[in-house]
Amino acid sequence: MDDDVVDRPTDRRALVHGEGVREGSRLDHRSPVDDRRPGDALSTTDVAASNENENENENDLKDLKRRQNEREERTNAMATQSASFAGTRVRANARARARAGTRTVRVHAGLSVDLKGKKAFVAGVADDNGFGWAISKALQEAGCEVILGTWVPALNIFETSYRRGKFDESRKLSDGRMMEFAKIYPMDAVFDTLDDVPEDVATNKRYAGNTKWTVSEVAKCVQEDFGKIDILVHSLANGPEVAKPLLETSRKGYLAAVSASSYSNVSMIQHFGPLMNKGGACISLTYLASEVVIPGYGGGMSSAKAALESDTRVLAYEAGRKWGIRVNTISAGPLGSRAAKAIGFIDKMINYSLTNAPLNEKPLKAIEIGNATAFLCSPLASGITGATIYVDNGLNIMGMAQDSRSTEN
Ligand code: NAD
Repeated sequence: MDDDVVDRPTDRRALVHGEGVREGSRLDHRSPVDDRRPGDALSTTDVAASNENENENENDLKDLKRRQNEREERTNAMATQSASFAGTRVRANARARARAGTRTVRVHAGLSVDLKGKKAFVAGVADDNGFGWAISKALQEAGCEVILGTWVPALNIFETSYRRGKFDESRKLSDGRMMEFAKIYPMDAVFDTLDDVPEDVATNKRYAGNTKWTVSEVAKCVQEDFGKIDILVHSLANGPEVAKPLLETSRKGYLAAVSASSYSNVSMIQHFGPLMNKGGACISLTYLASEVVIPGYGGGMSSAKAALESDTRVLAYEAGRKWGIRVNTISAGPLGSRAAKAIGFIDKMINYSLTNAPLNEKPLKAIEIGNATAFLCSPLASGITGATIYVDNGLNIMGMAQDSRSTEN
């Protein structure tokens, strides 16, 4: 990736500093004092020291400039000798600018998210409306291979729609390619091993014809088919009693919400962690209702999201130490996905966000969560783990509704 070069008028310090950027040093944080070589410019330390005295002894500065010029000349001579070396022209131009009284400021023009050669397993895609689809798309835009895990009862309709071209329009990538999935596995994240599957599920016709869909079995199949992976995405949730207030939620409904929406993430990291490359990253999707009250997001789903966020921190520590992978969660703003529509008030939440969020020009787009995921799973985010990252047009920071009738005159 090239840097933009911006010319800025030089000041006294810049004159001394200007050519401090030498071969390989713009991203090189080696100590300029420890690592100087013949022809190197004066270090920041030299400059700071000289600045202290410059009012008292202007001669010191002149001396510094003279030494700087001598070094520049030596560097120019070396550069001329190695004219075939890539980048020489850029450095020579920079020196010319420095001589002309400007200094070179390097600005990174576009750090790109590069996931070429990486493999992701994304769980929770069954149509082209939800976050999982947009995440898959962003990962592929960045060059990543994407493997899917789709909920068994939704798999047939998803695959049929896919084959019939229903998603073709939304499969288009920015460079004209079509999004492709390396493989789609049937999966039910509520079950860890075959032993956990009760008879009524095993014999349910929605599961008929599919095998090896528990989390441990899917992980094993992925390992056999693809070897190691780099990215693990948990984009799924289910709360059978989500429409009920917590006060009316049954134990069964509450535990089902936690099982499908939070423990499923623990289980996925448990089983996929061993097949993740060091430096890999896991992402899940959470919602603001984990930390503030969103009436209507019931059935224990708010509790499940709170658990998901807490688990993100603990898993970041444990999986970081064990496998050298990162674990983060994205707190997403409202999106009219299939799951969200089942809650029954998603359109109101989108309207509310549009009226009250700091960024209110457009509703949140799923691809914005996709892009954030691609970044968080890339080496650019290598220092981020255990975090809940808000991608919600900023709604989470608001403490007062802007459209509240209580504030009207
Ligand atoms: P979605 O309907 O696109 O995705 C949910 C997916 O979960 C579906 O594909 C469904 O088949 C799958 N699923 C359900 N139970 C499963 C199981 N037992 N095993 C495997 N897969 C199962 O909806 P979405 O809104 O994109 O949801 C993705 C994630 O985003 C969820 O965690 C959701 O809570 C979260 N989220 C959604 C919103 C929103 O407003 N839509 C906001 C914040 C967070």
